[in-house]
Amino acid sequence: MKVLLHLAIILFLTVLTQIGGVIYLITILIINRKSERKRLKRTFTFLLLYAFTTFMIIPHVAEIFGREKVKETEIIKANTFFAKLLNRNYVKPELNMLLQKISTDFRKSHQGINIVYLDANFPFINKFPLLPHLSHNDGKKIDLSFIYQLETGEITNKKPSISGYGVYVNPNENEIKQYQICEENGYWQYDFSKYLTFGTINRDIQFSQNATKDLIYSIIKQQETGKNFIEPHLKNRMKLTSDKIRFQGCRAVRHDDHIHVQLK
Ligand SMILES: [Zn+2]
Repeated sequence: MKVLLHLAIILFLTVLTQIGGVIYLITILIINRKSERKRLKRTFTFLLLYAFTTFMIIPHVAEIFGREKVKETEIIKANTFFAKLLNRNYVKPELNMLLQKISTDFRKSHQGINIVYLDANFPFINKFPLLPHLSHNDGKKIDLSFIYQLETGEITNKKPSISGYGVYVNPNENEIKQYQICEENGYWQYDFSKYLTFGTINRDIQFSQNATKDLIYSIIKQQETGKNFIEPHLKNRMKLTSDKIRFQGCRAVRHDDHIHVQLK
């Protein structure tokens, strides 16, 4: 029974952080069963080892495998500290360069507005998916937040969801309802990110169609940009015609809460 519990924890930590499962395994091997105050010692050891590995070791080892942390600048910011704590902020150097170009271009028309990133990729191993994003498995993918505005119409850096996911810009009456189409075809997970907000905040802000469109243009005009995923009704609403803008398919999740960017 205990072994099963340990295995479940290892699996959970691996899915969440890639390296957490291994760190947990090392922890239970170091602090053995007979140790006094075992649970406390294990918790403490795990946290210490995990933090040390995540912030001091992984960034260097990842470089050997061709990935690095998303480079934050005055413009490019993480939505929360968790992307970094959970090792979900690794990309290929080429993607960092692309983000720099996008941010320089976007800043020309939007002084003071940040480009906020959500999940990117884990530090190691191609084809190791960063759930729930199946395709974030090669260092070439990153999700960016939409841009929002205050009731006065002023563009803001505030976002409506703590995780950055799950607060949708829903289709209007007369727009295509892709989530219904996917649900009717049996893809129950398509609408799942609504459970992953970890709380909604800033209820007074609204989706800024214009500023988000400017961001999308800054993305697609770069030669290095491959595909961009966004929900079909938003593509139509924003009149986006580039062939880089695609529908991600029903196997993925909704993309009316963020923009998915990937390298060619
Ligand atoms: Zn994505």
